[in-house]
Amino acid sequence: MRRLLLCSLALLPLLSAAERPRRVVIVSWDGGADWVIDRMLGEGKLPNLARLAKRGVAAEHSSPAFPSKTAVSHYAIFSGASTEISGVTGNSVPILPRRDHTILESRSGFDANSHLAEPIWVTAAKAGKRVLTLSAAGSYPAQPDQERLRRARVPLDRWVGFSGFESSISGDFVLDGRKFRIRPMSETVTDHIVDFSVGDTKFEAVAVDADPTANERFEKVVIRRVGEAEPEAVLTPSEARSDLKGWSRGFRVQKGDLVGWTYFRLFSLDPKTGEMRLLVRAANGMRGTESSKVNAEYLQAYGGFHGNPFGTYERGELGEPLYRGGDGTAERRVVEQVRLDCEFLKRSFRYGLKRWNPDLVTHYTPQSDGAGHTWMGVLDTESPLHDPVLAARILPYYEEVFRLQDDWLGDMMDAAGAGTAFALVSDHGMAGIAKYFNVNQVLERAGLLVRTADGKIDLTRTKVCAPPWGDFFVIANTTDWKGGIVPLAERDSVIRSAQKALLEAVDPATGGRIVTRVWRPEEFVGLGIGGPAGGDLYLDVATGYYPSNRLSSDVTSPGSAIIGNGVHGFYPQLRKMQAIFYLGGPGVAQNKRIPGVRVIDIAPTICRLMGIPLPADSNGIVVGQALDR
Ligand SMILES: [Zn+2]
Repeated sequence: MRRLLLCSLALLPLLSAAERPRRVVIVSWDGGADWVIDRMLGEGKLPNLARLAKRGVAAEHSSPAFPSKTAVSHYAIFSGASTEISGVTGNSVPILPRRDHTILESRSGFDANSHLAEPIWVTAAKAGKRVLTLSAAGSYPAQPDQERLRRARVPLDRWVGFSGFESSISGDFVLDGRKFRIRPMSETVTDHIVDFSVGDTKFEAVAVDADPTANERFEKVVIRRVGEAEPEAVLTPSEARSDLKGWSRGFRVQKGDLVGWTYFRLFSLDPKTGEMRLLVRAANGMRGTESSKVNAEYLQAYGGFHGNPFGTYERGELGEPLYRGGDGTAERRVVEQVRLDCEFLKRSFRYGLKRWNPDLVTHYTPQSDGAGHTWMGVLDTESPLHDPVLAARILPYYEEVFRLQDDWLGDMMDAAGAGTAFALVSDHGMAGIAKYFNVNQVLERAGLLVRTADGKIDLTRTKVCAPPWGDFFVIANTTDWKGGIVPLAERDSVIRSAQKALLEAVDPATGGRIVTRVWRPEEFVGLGIGGPAGGDLYLDVATGYYPSNRLSSDVTSPGSAIIGNGVHGFYPQLRKMQAIFYLGGPGVAQNKRIPGVRVIDIAPTICRLMGIPLPADSNGIVVGQALDR
């Protein structure tokens, strides 16, 4: 079968060098749901994506991997390999080999040490291309992929890669009177001062008292690094706006040997009391294939890594959200932070292009995913907590996140010029839910899972569980795992018992069944499930539920937010889970809609467009209809 496939690919005519793009850029919008983007495109709200589609192809959709999660689908995109081959079966994965680790041991699925398949940055470097991964889920740490290059006798400098996610210095936070002690400077100076740190770097923010006898005393806040002779930042309060003029300049911060940049934004200052709402933007360091000097130069040109405005928003630190009676102020503050994020992304891309002149570039934004997780519980019309009035008020802010990302896409297209091909991809869709389904509680009630006195999974008595690295599947505690108790010959009957219990599980509040479908990897081929890091029984659940591996004494638990949660992970062919694939530029068929693709088809198609061999472990196919002949 595999040989046949390779023969048929070999018959596809190749583009000549003159017809190929001089460079390919792969951009990922995390959580870019096809159903959302289709609608926005139709309404003319994504002009730069429309421009890209015109000079190329738009796939009806792109089917994610299963579970449809960030690490899983991104690695399927970059390696062209499905999860049973890549080993990336979740945002967490088991530690292999099985004989040396129990089913309870896990590590991040983003960690390159977990990856069993070759990513496209290695494929392209092996083919003599210069690759720049400005951001690519699964590219950190660099050592495992540099080892792949070394084994292929490829100079390591063909791949320049960066990642900031693993190098947090500080998360976003808001300085206000609720959490930080604000005190008068001294008995004679009535300025209000707050001391705080970003990583190891100490700051003070001073609300300057212009006139203690006046009614309106405070009109500005001065921020300085403690003990540094450098210009201070002077901020006057201003509400969220459609430019970036409210932001301070960048301040260099440190944590251990990590160096990053933070920014300040004064959204409000009470003129009578000096009470302030001062946002301190997250700071991350940058690491990857390069020296700390190059990392610092890149990060400085970039401006700063991603902030996470949805965290402060959900904690109420940006003001009352619309769903708690707010008037949209908090949402506008979120959008302004996404605007800054996209501005930094523009700078990073332009700098990377100029400095490294790469043949293949990857870049990424998490903001559309954050927005979906935060708001989709109420926006999705099928969500049990959908509220049409509230949804109509929140939708413009959700769409603005995509519109800003579209603006970033357009800036990159302009910077790169007509000779560059762009692929816009996403990793999964988004749907709204109201309740969690506690898979392990069902297994416990069926006597298949046993807990220790302190409530943990007892591996000496547990036959099957949803492990810490999985929630859309369960795994039998078989003897091929360290500490396993189920003989391999009995796995089938244990899994069938688990299947029966799960299919019969009902929500005590409604009496309705929760699990709608199950798949066993050996019965369902072509789904890309199972493998050494995969599960023994995969499941999907009814609309409104999300499976959880947490240990609970209840079969269901409420969602974490009062408006429900936006989630993904479900069976990849569900409409709401579908992702996107757009490809445009030289060598690509023009202005054409093509049928749906799978995430594993993207890397092979891009490699064919570049005229290089396909990724070594890919089981995807070249989408011939996307190419110019
Ligand atoms: Zn997500």
